[in-house]
Amino acid sequence: MSVNIEAYLSIKEELEKQNVKLVAVSKTKPNDDILELYNLGQRDFGENYVQELVSKAEQLPKDIRWHFIGHLQTNKVKLIASFVQLIHGVDSLKLLKEINKQSKKNDRVVDCLLQVHIAEEETKFGLSEEELLQVIQLTKDPSLKNVRICGLMGMATFTSDKKIVRKEFNKLRQLYNNIPGIDTLSIGMSDDYKIAVEEGSNMVRIGSLLFGKRVKD
Ligand SMILES: *Cc1c(COP(=O)(O)O)cnc(C)c1O
Repeated sequence: MSVNIEAYLSIKEELEKQNVKLVAVSKTKPNDDILELYNLGQRDFGENYVQELVSKAEQLPKDIRWHFIGHLQTNKVKLIASFVQLIHGVDSLKLLKEINKQSKKNDRVVDCLLQVHIAEEETKFGLSEEELLQVIQLTKDPSLKNVRICGLMGMATFTSDKKIVRKEFNKLRQLYNNIPGIDTLSIGMSDDYKIAVEEGSNMVRIGSLLFGKRVKD
């Protein structure tokens, strides 16, 4: 068992003081590890593989709030629409429309974050600033009433240069501040959550600090 209880308790305390929500990223980790944090009161967990999320949600306590933090394919939305708490990585109108359709079928309103491309790397998913503003406009359409855009999500460049990370988070924070009616800024992972919180994050997604390193990603 590789759960770091001490790290969990201190990170939780640190974040609570600053009103930052902790999403414990449990991807690839066994149910027993999740239960260990659950028994300490943790309820928000993040996964980024649909099948894995579905099977964990079936087996684990029903009051867990499951966050989907990975890249979601439109054809898989229907598998999680009945129970997911928050979808972090919405990066197209097409995906948003599918989430709306599937949440409607389940008689729900599903909370979503729009993922913005803030990193230098080409490979990271996400909307450009321009696309973001377009999507925000289009989501005012009354037909999309089964999704609620509650904020933005982003990932910084994978680099040890803290200045770059800070600059990218800061840019997202500014975009966030300029969009009315949203309240969630999901930035920060194990390596950069402190910078993210300093730059205004109110939701961090932390995996390896809590559960140990992952063998695969
Ligand atoms: C895996 C993952 C995390 C957690 O990463 P750690 O470095 O282990 O904290 C956060 N966000 C996303 C989108 C991830 O895929």
